Amino acid sequence: MSLYTDQKYVGLLSPRLDLFKQVRQNLWNSRCPICGDSSKNKSKKRLYIYEKKQSLFVKCHNCGYGSNLGNFIKELDPHLHGQYVVERYGEGTKHMVFGKKEKIPEFNFEKPKFKPQPTKINLPSIDELDGEHFARKYFESRKIPESFKDKVYFAEDFREWAQEISKIDYSNLGKDEPRMVIPFFDMEGKLIAAQGRALGKSELRYITVKVEESYRKIYGLDRWNPEDTTYITEGPIDSMFLPNCLAVAGGDLQTIKMDKEQTVLIFDNEPRNEHTVKKLMKAIDDGWSVVIWGKERKFKDINDLIMSGLLTDEILFIINKRTMRGLEADWAAREWRNVQY
Ligand SMILES: [Zn+2]
Repeated sequence: MSLYTDQKYVGLLSPRLDLFKQVRQNLWNSRCPICGDSSKNKSKKRLYIYEKKQSLFVKCHNCGYGSNLGNFIKELDPHLHGQYVVERYGEGTKHMVFGKKEKIPEFNFEKPKFKPQPTKINLPSIDELDGEHFARKYFESRKIPESFKDKVYFAEDFREWAQEISKIDYSNLGKDEPRMVIPFFDMEGKLIAAQGRALGKSELRYITVKVEESYRKIYGLDRWNPEDTTYITEGPIDSMFLPNCLAVAGGDLQTIKMDKEQTVLIFDNEPRNEHTVKKLMKAIDDGWSVVIWGKERKFKDINDLIMSGLLTDEILFIINKRTMRGLEADWAAREWRNVQY
């Protein structure tokens, strides 16, 4: 019966434990109220409550605090501790228990071993949302392919989710707001970054976060075949419309080590955007094949072309026709820059 009482008091204590969560049967995890856990990373939680010989014990992997459940309760809530003692040991043994020194058994819960394993995204995917949900409506309004409905997600509070998945401190990441979430995986399916698209009015339409500082913001690696012609766009959504297409979110398309002979860089059609023009000219200088958009139609990016009613095949036809490198690209780019819309 003592284990049952312990379990009950873990429940009673849980409102006092930040980010409290049951990991599995008789194992709980939260932030450590003794040391405060990491002040830099608010999502760090290294306090465990675990079972040994029909009793529960507490251990913090940050400060090293270890105790039986009773003394831990006393530390946090002396009043609750009084009730606990009565309930667990009975009125008569109350005083005896206070003086009793219990030996704390070793905590040897094994951390999960790291092997390449696809990361499961702990958010509802677009296809799991209600038909009328605003994120689903937004997804559909952009005509994103059906096949991505289970690869794009929704976060009620993007900042909170970013802090959950990342080792980087994102506590200053704008206000808490809902966003459509596009996860970036590596070739093994491990989460490396994610982009959140604002769904309401926001100054920051796109926010891209990384899981670790050293990771790159490259989208689509989990579906990438390096043997085939690779297209690279600037935005993840644009890349969803093209075969074997990667996206480099908000960054330099040239940060990826790739075979220039087999790669086509697709910049947005923004001849008035100095930044885009500069990146394009540099890519040509560096010997990349690039797409220089024609002036027949006005559009901003691949998604725009889809919205205007073009099919993927038609877009690929244009892309292949307008793919150039070297001098030819240089001439065409200079002409493109002077387009007046
Ligand atoms: Zn601690």
